[in-house]
Amino acid sequence: MAKIAFIGLGNMGGPMAANLAKAQHHVVAFDLSDAAVSAAVEKGAHKASSAAEAVKGAEIVVTMLPAGKHVREVYEKDVLPNVGKGTLLIDCSTIDVESARHVAALAEKAGMDMVDAPVSGGVGGATAGTLTFMVGGSEASFAKARPILEKMGKNIVLAGTSGGGQAAKICNNMILGISMIAVSEAFMLAKRLGLDAQKLFDVASTASGQCWSLTNYCPVPGPVPASPANRDYQPGFTAAMMLKDLMLAQQAANAAGASTPLGAEAAQLFSLFVNSGNGGKDFSGIVKMLDGK
Ligand code: NAD
Repeated sequence: MAKIAFIGLGNMGGPMAANLAKAQHHVVAFDLSDAAVSAAVEKGAHKASSAAEAVKGAEIVVTMLPAGKHVREVYEKDVLPNVGKGTLLIDCSTIDVESARHVAALAEKAGMDMVDAPVSGGVGGATAGTLTFMVGGSEASFAKARPILEKMGKNIVLAGTSGGGQAAKICNNMILGISMIAVSEAFMLAKRLGLDAQKLFDVASTASGQCWSLTNYCPVPGPVPASPANRDYQPGFTAAMMLKDLMLAQQAANAAGASTPLGAEAAQLFSLFVNSGNGGKDFSGIVKMLDGK
């Protein structure tokens, strides 16, 4: 049993912290939202009144925060000044590669092991403990982090050195954003051609158009009963989060000189969707915009 500080108990962090508590770890939880802390306490965590208090005496610190600026702030102000040498730091947030490398360098300078470990699998995966972790860091830090990550996920991959987890995550989500638009366009074209959605699904899901956005997360109601399309696009994975990841991919592509024209187009379309008041909807709801609705 390890003493684990968990900071950021939102849609993802809440269930992830609950899984660590369920695995008999001593989880000390903090979030800016009191309601989120109370929910974590109900699931077996112990309450902290600040991030600084949560990390004092912790062997491991896990963060699950919205974006790079939150991670930088929490690490610089609360985590690094208050943890003991040798503490293992695991940031599971999806953030820009530069911020990930920046905090990892600060951690290393302070004598801490750190990995970036963003996830894929959504709230369902976080709750079921079946997330995929894409990890960036040294082999030694990865070996230390692995038993903890295994309590929250199933597929744990060392993607590269510091920032490598974030690189894998934004590349994956660029595929997801583009493929969701492609699948949505196909269903809207089918509709105008008088082709039944279920028929298109039956064909494409077993043919060369097959992909996760189609078979697991179909953007029209019917073919995949668990997809957000069947509950008026309640998330799931919000369009605002998808836009964030696509912008991170564009930022990284510009910095690295990579050509990503479809990634850029996907970012534009999600920006339009989010800016017309749909940021809180599931990202698959973009099908409505493409349908002209
Ligand atoms: P969320 O907005 O539900 O949760 C973020 C939490 O962080 C909130 O509860 C907020 O109060 C807390 N927070 C913000 N600043 C804080 C601070 N300074 N100190 C303490 N707590 C603070 O977001 P989420 O959906 O849980 O996503 C978290 C991260 O995981 C994001 O980086 C996101 O991109 C990534 N992610 C989300 C999903 C998903 O399906 N939701 C999937 C994969 C990855």
